[in-house]
Amino acid sequence: MLQQINGHSSGSDAQGRDSLREDLQEFLGGEAPLHQLDDLTRVNPVTLETVLRCLQARYMADTFYTNAGCTLVALNPFKPVPQLYSPELMREYHAAPQPQKLKPHIFTVGEQTYRNVKSLTEPVNQSIVVSGESGAGKTWTSRCLMKFYAVVAASPTSWESHKIAERIEQRILNSNPVMEAFGNACTLRNNNSSRFGKFIQLQLNRDQQMTGAAVQTYLLEKTRVAYQASNERNFHIFYQIYKGASEDERLQWHLPEGATFSWLPNPERTLEEDCFEVTREAMLHLGIDTPTQNNIFKVLAGLLHLGNIRFADSEDEAQPCQLMDDAKCSVRTSALLLRLPEDILLETLRIRTIRAGRQRQQVFRKPCSRAECDTRRDCLAKLVYAWLFDWLVSVINSSICADPTSWTTFIGLLDVYGFESFPENSLEQLCINYTNEKLQQHFVAHYLRAQQEEYAVEGLEWSFVNYQDNQTCLDLLEGSPISICSLINEECRLNRPSSAAQLQTRIEGALAGNPCLGHNKLSREPSFIVVHYAGPVRYHTEGLVEKNKDPIPPELTRLLQQSQDPLLTVLFPTNPEEKTQEEPSGQNRAPVLTVVSKFKASLEQLLQVLHSTTPHYIRCIKPNSQGQAQTFFQEEVLSQLEACGLVETIHISAAGFPIRVSHQNFVERYELLRRLHPCTSSGSHSPYPAKRHSEWPPHARGAILQPLLQDILHTLPALTQAAGML
Ligand code: ATP
Ligand code: MG
Repeated sequence: MLQQINGHSSGSDAQGRDSLREDLQEFLGGEAPLHQLDDLTRVNPVTLETVLRCLQARYMADTFYTNAGCTLVALNPFKPVPQLYSPELMREYHAAPQPQKLKPHIFTVGEQTYRNVKSLTEPVNQSIVVSGESGAGKTWTSRCLMKFYAVVAASPTSWESHKIAERIEQRILNSNPVMEAFGNACTLRNNNSSRFGKFIQLQLNRDQQMTGAAVQTYLLEKTRVAYQASNERNFHIFYQIYKGASEDERLQWHLPEGATFSWLPNPERTLEEDCFEVTREAMLHLGIDTPTQNNIFKVLAGLLHLGNIRFADSEDEAQPCQLMDDAKCSVRTSALLLRLPEDILLETLRIRTIRAGRQRQQVFRKPCSRAECDTRRDCLAKLVYAWLFDWLVSVINSSICADPTSWTTFIGLLDVYGFESFPENSLEQLCINYTNEKLQQHFVAHYLRAQQEEYAVEGLEWSFVNYQDNQTCLDLLEGSPISICSLINEECRLNRPSSAAQLQTRIEGALAGNPCLGHNKLSREPSFIVVHYAGPVRYHTEGLVEKNKDPIPPELTRLLQQSQDPLLTVLFPTNPEEKTQEEPSGQNRAPVLTVVSKFKASLEQLLQVLHSTTPHYIRCIKPNSQGQAQTFFQEEVLSQLEACGLVETIHISAAGFPIRVSHQNFVERYELLRRLHPCTSSGSHSPYPAKRHSEWPPHARGAILQPLLQDILHTLPALTQAAGML
């Protein structure tokens, strides 16, 4: 079915004339001012420069949304624009007969997905992929869309059911502040940066009311608990408890005013995200009661104290490292808050147990170096935080997820980290950019396939433009039998000491034939380059294999299993098989679940879900990196346009037929021209059937409209005259 974009419902001559005049003016009378171009496919010619100028003109005119064919471009206003997100405006888009005719907006996308779910005979799930670099506005956009659905998909007016519906919608919205408190942090690029990927599935019943939701998260940046780059911060929740605890709570959690924690840098910065009350209130709505909340915060305070434990170098290798002077108190407080035996905590941090022999019954104890002690301390904190985050997500899910029988369709919102390229890139960037390659492939494949199918049905002749196919890059990253992922995984499996240079050599040797493996001549440090669709990225191989293993010393898990804390008991139950990943050693090695292999599996699952939906795309763009309103830095926007392949997208959209009008509307609108056509007006035989359009056989409709369109183009001079006549 062709979408109705420019069509008119009435066939009256007057209306037809009006719309024809509009079209001809646009067609013959030059281009509209740049800031009025609602769709980038109408920029002429489509180049990076013209697209950039158009977006800039619109941004300066406070127009933040622009269509780019099948994608919506969202520029971050970096200032409050309440009128743009008011419930009234939501209702206006919802009530519009053709929301596409209103100004481009995320609500158009929201409404389109909502109607798609309803209007098709077979219900089809929808998804909205929101992408863009850090600080571009992905989370903001997803949040606004959730609010939009909470308004338009609210349940019926009857009081009782309304109350229930309010609860579920409110609960779903409440999942945002909780997940952001625990999963977001202030970084150099965004004060509220999401440090995880998120896919939320909004579940709708047959009457299109939201009955529940389910959240899936990806790759939480857990290293942030124990390491924060300079001028960055830990997850918001640590600052919230530190700043927002009551006198009583400060005593219970051992957080006296003015205390310093090395894992709590820059606490003096005031952010609106530091609002503890909002988090607590939202947790309460999600069914996390106050005692459980206090338990969570006590554990977090325990982690802060753990971070203050400092070791001194040991002079005798056979002896465990000594604690620095003020660290004894930190060990005691940390053990107290985590309800761990203090001596075992200290021993676990300082002494490694090695099991050997056939049955692994021989146990050796080896004191760790200072660096090893630090690593174990950090690993302990990451382990607790990562499990706590996962547990929270599962609690949120059980609170918002609808009974499977109460929903039939869903709209999925994907808020996923955009393409990243830093001076130093490691495993995190590899996973993130791999995700973006997969999403780009999904986008191109879906869009081209959809176009092709549509044209075939319409009987239109059509040859495809060359579009950038990123299969070669994906072969390099994940292909079989050998790829970058498989080689990194293999190093983990072999569990042999391998240097960063060796990994580079292996990758370059085994994958030399792939053109997406860039030439790596200039770097002194071991690295490899991947030419992504969004640009080349150099990945450093130092530490890559270790990060991929993400080893958890089994002693740490055993330690946590000894905790008397109710929450830690839930997170680390005593059945070790369930939770731990024993260090591979000896010959009976269990298959290692690496970070990459786990990530790949969850990505594949996500793509399967996306494939089963009709996707929609929103590309968020950050107009400047200072977060300032009315400031548009061309260079910065340019690199984002390149990174998301926007010009490509516009070309793909523009190479197809840019305007889609239903047959009915087209004929109604251009009937006048048919009458002006020389063949028709001279009384000779018309090439077009005299029958009403609705009587044309479906297979003939496209085939008939195409020559009509061509005739219109060929008779331009006559049309100019016609414009005068009108
Ligand atoms: P990250 O990848 O780091 O999580 P992000 O793309 O999710 O980044 P957001 O957190 O959504 O970025 O947006 C960054 C900031 O930009 C917001 O905190 C908000 O201040 C501002 N912002 C984004 N979109 C809008 C908008 N539509 N109106 C007003 N301000 C906005
Ligand atoms: Mg975000």
